[in-house]
Amino acid sequence: MSRIVLRLIPCALLALAVAGVGQAQQASRPPFATTKVDGTDGVYIFRNGNHQAMFIVTREGVIATDPVAYGRPTGGQTYLDEIRKVTNQPVKYVIYSHHHYDHIAGGKAFKDAGATFIAHRRAKERLEMLKDPHTVVPDEAVGDGGRTITLGGTTLELTYHGLNHSDSTLVMRLPKERIVFIVDTIPVGAIPGRGMIDFYPLETEAFMKQVLATDWDRLIPGHPGPGDRLGTKKDVQDQLTLLQTASAEMRKLALEGKCWDTAEKEFKLPGYESWPGYANNLPFVARRYCGLWGRGT
Ligand SMILES: [Zn+2]
Repeated sequence: MSRIVLRLIPCALLALAVAGVGQAQQASRPPFATTKVDGTDGVYIFRNGNHQAMFIVTREGVIATDPVAYGRPTGGQTYLDEIRKVTNQPVKYVIYSHHHYDHIAGGKAFKDAGATFIAHRRAKERLEMLKDPHTVVPDEAVGDGGRTITLGGTTLELTYHGLNHSDSTLVMRLPKERIVFIVDTIPVGAIPGRGMIDFYPLETEAFMKQVLATDWDRLIPGHPGPGDRLGTKKDVQDQLTLLQTASAEMRKLALEGKCWDTAEKEFKLPGYESWPGYANNLPFVARRYCGLWGRGT
């Protein structure tokens, strides 16, 4: 799914300078970029490094999502500056996809500019406990029943579907544009990795089935898909099948009493070797499913 590249930051040389061996492909990529989603009036993707967020420009203000500035002290300001290149409308809202810092740290510039921060209640509770100095605590919490935001002719639905990649994930859906923004829970065309640490396997399968039953055409992921393409329902189905395959495979090993060490060594996902992240991410998948079938967690 191609998108119009609005502007690319001419920092390829800097990226080349900081890139390590084996990162040649990433080195040619600008550190951040803003793109407009094809066929929409005002839906954009801001990418910073390997993270990305959706923002929506309306005639009465901007709805932004995840600041994506963990470990990037100027990342929040950069995001705001990128929005400013598109519109002078104020940013009314910043909505967190879930509570993980790699997506939501760095919102101070938006807070200073007067935006209202919104997240699921579990995210707000968690962030109030953790008091991370780089992460703005949400002003408003969304309950399990969800919330609909309307601004300048745009409707954005925030829905909660229980446990999945986190206990605080909000699905953001633009019904008119038939677009959803779902972060981390449904990687597009990739093997899940570190996110498995605090992931709820069985609940995620139920979550994916709910997402498949929802009305949308394109999925904006929190990490760019292969070639920056957006996700489709086929990607959701593929990811669901992957999880079900991994789960069944590890269940077998666990029933043989092989968790942890032996099972983690023997665990493979035949047919997925060519997917991005296979070698690096397989141990995370194995460990999580050993936790499920070998421990009951
Ligand atoms: Zn996450």
